[in-house]
Amino acid sequence: MEVKIKAPRGTQDVLPAESYQWQEIERIVMEEASRSGFAEIRFPTFEDTALFQRSVGDTTDVVQKEMYTFEDKGNRSVTLRPEGTAGTIRAVLENGLLGSALPLRVCYLTSCFRYEKPQAGRLREFHQFGAEMLGSASPVADAEVIAMVQRILTRFGLAGAVRLEINSIGCPKCRADYHAALRSYFAQRRDELCATCQTRLDKNPMRILDCKSPVCSEIAAGAPVGLDYLCDECAAHFDQLQRHLKAFGIGYTVNPRIVRGLDYYTKTVFEFITDTIGAQGTVCGGGRYDGLVQELGGAPTPALGFAMGLERLLLVLRASGYEFQPREVCALYLASMGDQAHLAAAGLADALRRAGVRAECDVMGRSLKAQMKYADKIGARYTVVIGDSELAAGKAAVKEMCSGETADCTLSAEALAAFLNQ
Ligand code: ATP
Ligand code: MG
Repeated sequence: MEVKIKAPRGTQDVLPAESYQWQEIERIVMEEASRSGFAEIRFPTFEDTALFQRSVGDTTDVVQKEMYTFEDKGNRSVTLRPEGTAGTIRAVLENGLLGSALPLRVCYLTSCFRYEKPQAGRLREFHQFGAEMLGSASPVADAEVIAMVQRILTRFGLAGAVRLEINSIGCPKCRADYHAALRSYFAQRRDELCATCQTRLDKNPMRILDCKSPVCSEIAAGAPVGLDYLCDECAAHFDQLQRHLKAFGIGYTVNPRIVRGLDYYTKTVFEFITDTIGAQGTVCGGGRYDGLVQELGGAPTPALGFAMGLERLLLVLRASGYEFQPREVCALYLASMGDQAHLAAAGLADALRRAGVRAECDVMGRSLKAQMKYADKIGARYTVVIGDSELAAGKAAVKEMCSGETADCTLSAEALAAFLNQ
């Protein structure tokens, strides 16, 4: 019996016909990050479960509902990373990176895993480009990080398709008052809240604001907003951030409803949102997390960062008609007839590749006609046919496939490479 195994629900294969688009996205985001002083960091796909419970937060949807957690054969509880910040900070602390020049700027391209209901723009394995800046408490840092995202979107021609929304959710100091206000508001409608939110009411009422259930979000729409409860320091920080954004010429709106789904955020939170790809329109989310480094055992260190969902970015790019650089195709196909010519073609293909040319020759034992059909199928730019007489003459006719024009060229890797590059 034939068993057909399919890709797990909520995962995606990236096939050769589109992988070049991913490569372009990854190249551009990393290039922009590097210009802003961010260096790449890589960290494990799975971590100790406690890392995410402590950082992302016990009462968040991510930890309560979405994590891929399992026991390994050594009875340790491990979790596939649902996001990149926790692993980054863990690695930074474990390797003492805060001991060198501050601010520390690191970035990553990574897959994340969340057990969610798969739909357009929402997968169980998805990919993020993220960046974190550690050491600065200044609102200039917030503006700088936001400006980097803006530059990336601008490079992709998306400045008009994606808008920036910002908010401040305050610090633990001002949050006490805000939590109290939220508690008394939600307590009046306790029975209508979903079961999860009823438990959140005591522990972490702000999480109710991020609940996706329709009833909870309807109730949350009338809840008190955090901006009204900011302490002087947080209010000044938010004010300064806005002054800097204006100085950078970055348009934004203040949306007091943005709270973000992870517990570690403080003060600034922001989202880049589009209306062009349906309901899952948040392309990028981020903010400040001044308490996280200490929470994970480091010295108190202000920090902030963001993560951009690459599947969603790709959807926006396609919706906007973004033109990816065309996929590289075979530059020269070396067709051959006869044993000597097969050998020569294989040798030339190898030498051309060493010279940096995308060259191919027959590896299927095909007839000349079938070789030419293949060259056409793969879109080879040039072809050359090598037979005994070409070998004897030491030259052959190179044909440009789109025009049909031919020109004689010496049968050496140097001459062919020079011909193709002219
Ligand atoms: P959402 O509100 O859409 O669930 P989130 O607040 O859970 O997003 P973050 O944890 O801030 O998202 O992750 C940052 C970015 O990663 C999001 O803005 C989004 O672009 C992307 N992202 C998050 N979850 C998924 C997912 N399941 N599938 C695809 N992309 C995702
Ligand atoms: Mg989510």
